[in-house]
Amino acid sequence: MRYEIGTIIAMLILALAICARQCRTSNRSMASSVARLIDALIMPVTGNLLIILSGSRVLSILGYLIYFLGMNAVMYALIGFTFRYCYLPRPGDGIKFFAYGLLAVDAVQLLLNPFFHHAFDTEMVEVSGAAYYRLVPCLGQSFHRIVCYGIFLTALFIFCIKMFTAPRLYLERYAVIFISMLVTGAWETFYIFSRLPIDSSMIGFGFFGLLVYYFAVRYKPIRLLDRMLANVASQIFQGVFFFDAMGSCVWVNKAGCEAFQIKNNNFEEGTEILKKTFGDIAGEEWVRHDVTWIGDEKRYYRLEKHSIKDSKGRTAGNYLTIFDETEQHRAQEKDRYNATHDALTGLYSREYLYERIREEIDANPDKDFYICYLDINDFKMVNDVFGREFGDHTLLSVADSLRKNMPPGVLYGRLSGDTFGMCIPGESFSIENASSFLEKFSIRDNGTMYPIVIHQGVYEVIERDIDVPTMFDRANMALKSIKNEYNLRLAVYDDTMRDGALWDQRIAGELKEAIESRQIRPYLQAIVDGTGCVVGAEALVRWIHPTEGFLAPYRFIPTFEKNGMIAQVDKYMWRSACEILSSWKDNRLFISINVSPKDFFFMDVVQELTQLAAEYGVETSRLRVEITETVMMTDETKRISILKELREAGFIVEMDDFGSGYSSLNMLKDMPVDVVKIDMVFLRKAEDDARARTILRSIMQMTNNLELSSITEGVETYEQFINLREMGCGMFQGYFFAKPMPVDKFAAYLETHEKT
Ligand code: C2E
Ligand code: CA
Ligand code: CA
Repeated sequence: MRYEIGTIIAMLILALAICARQCRTSNRSMASSVARLIDALIMPVTGNLLIILSGSRVLSILGYLIYFLGMNAVMYALIGFTFRYCYLPRPGDGIKFFAYGLLAVDAVQLLLNPFFHHAFDTEMVEVSGAAYYRLVPCLGQSFHRIVCYGIFLTALFIFCIKMFTAPRLYLERYAVIFISMLVTGAWETFYIFSRLPIDSSMIGFGFFGLLVYYFAVRYKPIRLLDRMLANVASQIFQGVFFFDAMGSCVWVNKAGCEAFQIKNNNFEEGTEILKKTFGDIAGEEWVRHDVTWIGDEKRYYRLEKHSIKDSKGRTAGNYLTIFDETEQHRAQEKDRYNATHDALTGLYSREYLYERIREEIDANPDKDFYICYLDINDFKMVNDVFGREFGDHTLLSVADSLRKNMPPGVLYGRLSGDTFGMCIPGESFSIENASSFLEKFSIRDNGTMYPIVIHQGVYEVIERDIDVPTMFDRANMALKSIKNEYNLRLAVYDDTMRDGALWDQRIAGELKEAIESRQIRPYLQAIVDGTGCVVGAEALVRWIHPTEGFLAPYRFIPTFEKNGMIAQVDKYMWRSACEILSSWKDNRLFISINVSPKDFFFMDVVQELTQLAAEYGVETSRLRVEITETVMMTDETKRISILKELREAGFIVEMDDFGSGYSSLNMLKDMPVDVVKIDMVFLRKAEDDARARTILRSIMQMTNNLELSSITEGVETYEQFINLREMGCGMFQGYFFAKPMPVDKFAAYLETHEKT
């Protein structure tokens, strides 16, 4: 028995020595204090071994001395270790001084024992058939025990407190040390009180050292790590499902349980629920996207499955992470919607409409399509007069009406402020339908109906390869041709429109050069009196174009009236008229010049004409200013005052094209004009002969009553001339007398037709 215990103790010493060495190579923070404790533990255990094995009195006394001093070293190291292991603040100097002081005093009194024998002695007994020197404790030994037990119990108490106050996960960390200390302490106490000769409790010391080494230096808190990782997995907001190697669900995190309604940690259910929601989820490593209905809500998921391998590469389990991407998806969809839809009306935006139309046309090579361009007439006015809110209301009504009336297959959207675009497949399109949609259009506001005039330009997609914006340009071109018409609401594009637009562009670019090089020049058409003698002429513009040849005014005047360049033409014509007048010897002759309504926007007509007359030294009364009543259509009062100014400056003002349509006899009396110029061509077009004659007669009467003079233009026959003269007309102009002719020809003509 004695030698078996000795062998065990010797092995334990060896093990402790190895552990102490290991501690010194470890980088764990606790390692140094553990090494100190183990080193200290080796001392009493070694002392004990000496006592057990020696059988000699002297060696036994030495063994006891080593044992007791070793115990002091152990207590010293235990204080440091306990504080480190339990993460307590380092002991204060007072406590340290007290404890270390007691240990030092105890050590000194033990060292003095060989001289005074006050601490212990030995007595020989026989154990296992050999001499063994048993301890006989004295007073000093009691002191030693009190000191050691005091420190030991303090440490035990600290571990006990820690064990109960630290989080449950740390229980084993403290409990193991606590229990081994308790056992060792109890064992030692048993030895002391049992008076057994051999102190086997040193085995407990040895094991205590090994346990401390293991828990303080080697032990990895796997359970703690597990719990921490599981916690992290629980917290993340993706659903996480763990499967064992057999494929059944063993754990689901919080997000997963909530999203898929797994209740009471019934994880086995997870596999079934997932299969029901996402179909097959077998396999080890994959990523896929899934759209599923959860209740009545459409949700988007990304599923990622990963496998966990053991050290040999075999699949130990799988986990599936489910990312709910519904919100991102919705945000993306919203962004896409905003990018492709108009904010106010919710219709397609222009770019998106173009894109969709392109796709539609390309995808249906055998289908016919019509591109329609819709424009709300005078929308600016609607906004100005009724306010923006009403304007928006109008746009919304148009959008609504499109939604309601357009058959499926029609693409439509908002092109800009007040214009809308459509692409109608051939089978759904008819001019009648399109026109009726436009005509019946009106909007309701507070119970009142407002008619809204919408014009529509249509382009039949014949050239399918041209880009969509160009198709709309063409539809818009058709629209522009009727923009100012109230009766015509729809126009269909044909190539002449494109040619017209190209022509407009071309001549606008050429005008400056044409004026400078006198390609543009006046022709003169004679105006005669009742005897057929020339009294004056009307200056009519002609363009002798280098490549296009002779161009009559209708070829270019409308273009320049549209783009405002007419003012440059007229200014030039007026200057030419003054030049001609100043060159004529007969200063009774006059020249009538034409003034376009647009001229008033671009210049001060009165000042311009006055200056020109002065520059050429021409009497203002020899310049007759022809205006049409369209001049009065904008800002009537201002225009009336301009006419008055012209007359005050001495010019004779003529009302041109009287009888062409809008003119009313009634308005004449308010107009500050000198002459009424009646256009027979207009009359001939509209009415039968008898009616025309009646109208002419009443105009003549009216002008005579108002003491205005009259000119009739478009006189083509002798008969007309005689009739008009008989009705009281004073002057005549027409092919019957002379056609418009170049200025030099007119000079020759004058010689034979002038009054003598
Ligand atoms: P307008 O001022 O009414 O000019 C009279 C037009 O009637 C001229 O056409 C003239 O050639 C034409 N005419 C004269 N006698 C007869 C006739 O017996 N039978 C027929 N069928 N026609 C006759 P033109 O020169 O082609 O001018 C057309 C229009 O162009 C003019 O109508 C005028 O509105 C505009 N215009 C011509 N020159 C100028 C100009 O210098 N400035 C501006 N702003 N407009 C001009
Ligand atoms: Ca005229
Ligand atoms: Ca005229």
